[in-house]
Amino acid sequence: MPDIATWKKIGIMGGTFNPIHTGHLLLAQWAMEEAGLDGVIFMPTGNSYMKDKEEMLPGSERLAMTQLAIQDRECFSCSDLEVKRGGNTYTYETLEALRSMYPQSRLYFIAGADCLFNIEKWYCPQKIFENCVLLAASRSGAPMEALEKKRCELTEAYGAEILLMAFPNMEISSTDIRRRRRLGRSIRYLVPDRVREYIVRNHFYEGL
Ligand code: ATP
Ligand code: MG
Repeated sequence: MPDIATWKKIGIMGGTFNPIHTGHLLLAQWAMEEAGLDGVIFMPTGNSYMKDKEEMLPGSERLAMTQLAIQDRECFSCSDLEVKRGGNTYTYETLEALRSMYPQSRLYFIAGADCLFNIEKWYCPQKIFENCVLLAASRSGAPMEALEKKRCELTEAYGAEILLMAFPNMEISSTDIRRRRRLGRSIRYLVPDRVREYIVRNHFYEGL
């Protein structure tokens, strides 16, 4: 187990991870290099109030897949904080909890561009920005200029500290992976092998 308390710059990779995929892992890797992070904590959400519940696997299973995906990386860790908390999970609460667990460290919340455009709808955006630097990556369809504009707006409105990161366009999403499973198509290379085997063995996302 990595000793997170020794990490000075901690990346937080939040997501539903339903399932975790190569895009998430590459994003975490890029963020580490881009911002010089010591490591990244993957944080699967509890039962999100924003997501369609039907296809949502229980937190315990999304956490299990996340663990399988990162188990061979010393600088990747995974947390059950949100899954255990149950009910709606709010990012600001998680960040406050992590701040008190690791008071010596700086937190970097890693997110795709879609999140940057949504974040004001999240609960207490002010408290999110007070507790972390937001590291936002471009994602399909969101050009850098649009991101830059949003960054300025958020900095003005909340004093937010936001780093933008150019990220290759990867048309990988959990939605598409679930769709492929429904259609009986392969998800090889879209998710790590151990995750794929776990999904297939447990018949996840079939015929939903
Ligand atoms: P879904 O399709 O179910 O919404 P997702 O693929 O968007 O799933 P999430 O768990 O919602 O995955 O995303 C977690 C984080 O990873 C978000 O910040 C999201 O923007 C980012 N992310 C996911 N896939 C990519 C990708 N291909 N490129 C860049 N960022 C991504
Ligand atoms: Mg998403």
